[in-house]
Amino acid sequence: KLPLVALCGRPNVGKSTLFNRLTRSRAALVHDLPGMTRDRSYGRVTCLGETGEAEEVFELVDTGGLDFEGDDVITQGITRMAEAALGEAHIAILLVDGHDGLTAGDEEIATRLRRQGKPILLVINKLDGMKGGAPDAGFYGLGFDLVLSISAAHGAGVPELIEALRARL
Ligand code: GDP
Ligand code: MG
Repeated sequence: KLPLVALCGRPNVGKSTLFNRLTRSRAALVHDLPGMTRDRSYGRVTCLGETGEAEEVFELVDTGGLDFEGDDVITQGITRMAEAALGEAHIAILLVDGHDGLTAGDEEIATRLRRQGKPILLVINKLDGMKGGAPDAGFYGLGFDLVLSISAAHGAGVPELIEALRARL
C-alpha cells in the first residue's frame, strides 16, 4: 500500500492545480489514461525510477475535492471526509496563496492540522504572481520547519516538493 499525502488548504489556493500536476504530468508520459475524471480526489504520483521505469511513490488526496461529497462542514473548508482522509495520511501539505499572504483561514487550517500530529509541509503557491518579492513573513510565523515555494500552474519548485515528500515518507 502506498503512503498517503493529504493536500490541504482553503479554497482557491491552487490545490486542484497542484493535484493535477502531481498526479498527471509525470505519469502522463508513461500512461495517459483516457476518460480519467478531472475532479478526482485521490490520485497516484509517479516518478521515474533509476532504471527509467515508472514507479508509484505515493498517493495524494485533495481534501478540497472531498468537500463536495457531503455538506457536513464542521468548519470553513474542512469536512468530516477531509478530517478522515487526514487521519489516514502520513504527511500533510498545507498549501497557501503567496499572492494573498497569510489569512485567518490559513491559520485555522494550520491549527487543525497541528492537532492531527502529522508532519506538515507549508507550501507557498503562486510564486509566479509574486514578482520576485519575498513571501509574506506571516507564513514563516506559523512556525513550520519546512517551507517551500512553488508555482503549481507553471511547475516551478514542484520537483523539489516531490523530493521533500519522498525524503519524509
Ligand atoms: P483550489 O480551490 O485550492 O483547488 O484552487 P484551484 O487549483 O482551483 O486554483 C484556484 C485559482 O488559482 C485558479 O484560477 C488557478 O488557475 C489559480 N492558480 C493555481 N495555481 C496557480 C499558480 O501557481 N500561479 C497562479 N498565478 N495562479 C494559480
Ligand atoms: Mg479544488
